[in-house]
Amino acid sequence: MDHVFYSWAAQAELDPITVDRASGSWFWDERGKKYLDFSSQLVNANLGHQHPDLVAAIIAQAQVLTTISPMIANAKRSELAALVAERAPGDLDRVFFTTGGAEAIEHAVRLARQHTGRTKMLAAYRSYHGGTGVAIGLTGEPRRWGTEPTNVDVVRFFGPYPYRSPWSTNSPEEETTAALSHLQQVIELEGAQNIAGLILESVVGTNGVLVPPPGYLAGVRELCDRYGIVYIADEVMVGFGRVGEWFACQAWDVTPDLITFAKGINSGYVPLGGVVISERIASKFDHKPYPGGLTYSGHPLACAVGVASIEVFERDNVLGHVRAVGEDVLGAGLKKLGESHPSVGEVRGMGFFWALELVKDRSTREPLIPFAAGGADAAPMAEVTAAAKSRGLWPFTAGNRLQLAPPLVASEDEIVQGLEILDEVLTVADEIAARGTP
Ligand code: PLP
Repeated sequence: MDHVFYSWAAQAELDPITVDRASGSWFWDERGKKYLDFSSQLVNANLGHQHPDLVAAIIAQAQVLTTISPMIANAKRSELAALVAERAPGDLDRVFFTTGGAEAIEHAVRLARQHTGRTKMLAAYRSYHGGTGVAIGLTGEPRRWGTEPTNVDVVRFFGPYPYRSPWSTNSPEEETTAALSHLQQVIELEGAQNIAGLILESVVGTNGVLVPPPGYLAGVRELCDRYGIVYIADEVMVGFGRVGEWFACQAWDVTPDLITFAKGINSGYVPLGGVVISERIASKFDHKPYPGGLTYSGHPLACAVGVASIEVFERDNVLGHVRAVGEDVLGAGLKKLGESHPSVGEVRGMGFFWALELVKDRSTREPLIPFAAGGADAAPMAEVTAAAKSRGLWPFTAGNRLQLAPPLVASEDEIVQGLEILDEVLTVADEIAARGTP
């Protein structure tokens, strides 16, 4: 452990638990303490831990072919690309595989720039797109600050956030109108002829589980069409079932030009990501080489798990389970908790992806901790998170939010167990909020 350099952490202050066993919605630390995984790790273990069919797919593929150059065709890679293309909307028919989300973003941006001959990118505040060069440059939140200057030609805009509207609107519909009008002005002031692409998380993930209000994504599509801008939907976190759809944009009947994915495609059992590319853009490279590649693009082990994963989704009606249990049990249960706990300012989400925004005071909506808080300022949320973990619930905490993203295979019973623990955790949060700032 002492020789590992950890992500996003002050190394000497980190004291991680050691996990040596996991199954379904649960994992165990080395002392035998059991946790209900309400984060699916980093919102990636969509089919839960140690799914027997996925493990079997790795073993079977390992016995046949463990690695092969990306320039040589491979049956599992071809099969997975076809399965993904079949499920993607519109003419998004071809797949470039990467080993994770950030690389998918790098290539989506390269495709947009190649396609348009323009360089500038539009990206939202309150977004995360990954930790590599272009991806971190596009990111619209504090994780970018430590990498600045990023030298990425990017202009940022505000996306909709009805609970904390940048335009002080009073309804989701008003928020859509204001957000689209703002976006149009940004495009015009930046010069549409200079803008290659716009990147947007279909449901904003780590930055708050922000579900787009009605008409917003369709409006973004329309603006991109009007100005010849490539629309990239970043679905690294929300693709493959998280919100009850193969691709989240399908919930609003919107077809982007490129969709980035990773995480849920194979539950992270072997690193995999990619870009689904519209035929219009992909065919530009029919006779002109695409200027990019990766040694592990379409790695057979990763693709084999991807194929097995899609088979499990179909066989076990995972999307149906997420829609039904997400709405009737998880969503309904969280809304009920929200009503009875004054520290909950807003409950929002869909499918198996929800956020509880914690506040000091419901009427002022002052967050339980300040934006980008660290150290002592962040202590109240650390206390809430510790309260969850000590009770055996592993949440996905971000800023002043408890975000809940259980494996998509979590049973109703497991969701109810999680909600019961959350009830206790929110009682702790209520006390912390009532205590106020010392
Ligand atoms: N895009 C989004 C929306 C993400 O949530 C993430 C990771 O959390 C990424 C991109 C980056 O993915 P990765 O960490 O696999 O590089």
